[in-house]
Amino acid sequence: MKRRLLLLCALAAFLTSGLSAADKIKVLILDGQNNHKWKETTPVLVNALETAGCFAVTVSTTPDSKAPKEAWNDWHPKFSDYAVVVSNYNGLDWPEAVQKDFESFVKNGGGFICIHAADNSFPNWKAYNEMIGVGGWGGRNEKSGPWLYVKDGKLFRDESPGSGGGHGKQHEFIVEIRNPDHPITKGLPTKWLHAKDELYSKLRGPAEVEILSTSLSDTTGKDEPNLMVRNYGKGRVVHNTLGHADYSMLERGFYFILQRSAEWAASGAVKATAEVPKDFPTDKVVPIVLEGYAPVKKP
Ligand code: ZN
Repeated sequence: MKRRLLLLCALAAFLTSGLSAADKIKVLILDGQNNHKWKETTPVLVNALETAGCFAVTVSTTPDSKAPKEAWNDWHPKFSDYAVVVSNYNGLDWPEAVQKDFESFVKNGGGFICIHAADNSFPNWKAYNEMIGVGGWGGRNEKSGPWLYVKDGKLFRDESPGSGGGHGKQHEFIVEIRNPDHPITKGLPTKWLHAKDELYSKLRGPAEVEILSTSLSDTTGKDEPNLMVRNYGKGRVVHNTLGHADYSMLERGFYFILQRSAEWAASGAVKATAEVPKDFPTDKVVPIVLEGYAPVKKP
């Protein structure tokens, strides 16, 4: 009887998730420091991935910014146990050994997804900036590389002097797909309305990335990249500048693009998340995703 119950449970889990635990793509989310409310946004990232049914998600939290140096000795995630690392981290430099391991992980075929303020991190870490292509703040300026943007459908790498990183007041804005043939963007509406968020602008860096989508900035008048991809060694990187707060992430557009990004970063293909959900935002309506999501209590 017990055995039958176990079998039924296993069957139910399989039917719910579509995949057994062993077949799921292993994803590691990093957090622990951020000038954003990472304790509120990490659960949303977890939920966005887990509701796809094809990911097994683990979270690794760094010591906080005031922790003694020794605390960092205990933080050394084994990146190679995962197919994809997602960073929700913006803070102090990681220990050198962790940085080296992370570089090897991506070079050897690991996937990396950089979310919102994670592109503010590590202005002096060369490999990290090559991976994300462009970043903001942290003293970034023309020495970090050109400002990457689109204007009248043309790509610009603007080398004129100036600081890197900016945004206007938070608002809902249109995201415009620039490459509809990439596995992450295939079949999506060319223009879709994203929930209230910061629209990052003037990002600078080595800028060797492919732009998948942009949004028109009210502060620069340029179409600023918000979804970028690149190959790094044998690995694949996705840089998504969206996701300032939980309310910015809690919509189908952000959820679905994160799910596809994780699948593509893991394998270079999109299969489990190939079908575009019927409630993907149009250019007018933003459906809010709450299903299965338990918000963290706000203080
Ligand atoms: Zn922000």
